[in-house]
Amino acid sequence: MKRLVPVISADDLFPHYRNTPIGQLLEYHNLQKSFDQYTLARLLIGMCMDNRKHLRIPENFAYIIRSGGANLRYSEFKISYAIAVGDVRHMALIGHNNCGMVNLISRKKLFVDGLVEKAGWQREWAEEHFMHFAPMFEIGNEVDFILSEAKRLRLRYPGIMVAPLFYQVEDNQLYQLQE
Ligand SMILES: [Zn+2]
Repeated sequence: MKRLVPVISADDLFPHYRNTPIGQLLEYHNLQKSFDQYTLARLLIGMCMDNRKHLRIPENFAYIIRSGGANLRYSEFKISYAIAVGDVRHMALIGHNNCGMVNLISRKKLFVDGLVEKAGWQREWAEEHFMHFAPMFEIGNEVDFILSEAKRLRLRYPGIMVAPLFYQVEDNQLYQLQE
């Protein structure tokens, strides 16, 4: 995918990410940079709830909001808190490949049957639940969604640097997204 720019050495970092918490995140995770000590958070990370992803970052370094598809449309109070009270000025928005929030409708039967069998829901509630929420949580395409979500968040929080990043589950590496 042409829009994914790997970080294999510090020279690969986009210039505007260097010497920022975004660059530090990429160096900790991809380049095994040794951990600095933090007493205050420097970064807000928005990433998918998916279990395949684990970040290598120091203690206290980041607030993390995890949400299906790294969709932060329904997490704004938490973002505002991290900025206003937590004093972070940088946000990394991390999408990933093979995200379950793409083409949700194809998993409708699995979702409804699962709620009925495992959670004890009535089928009508489960159907209604799916049909109500699936359009809100569907992201379409992982890369396009992260790029548009980054744009949206920049308009909403103009004082904050928002970096669209991508986690590839096969190699567990973070990639920069070309905009
Ligand atoms: Zn996902």
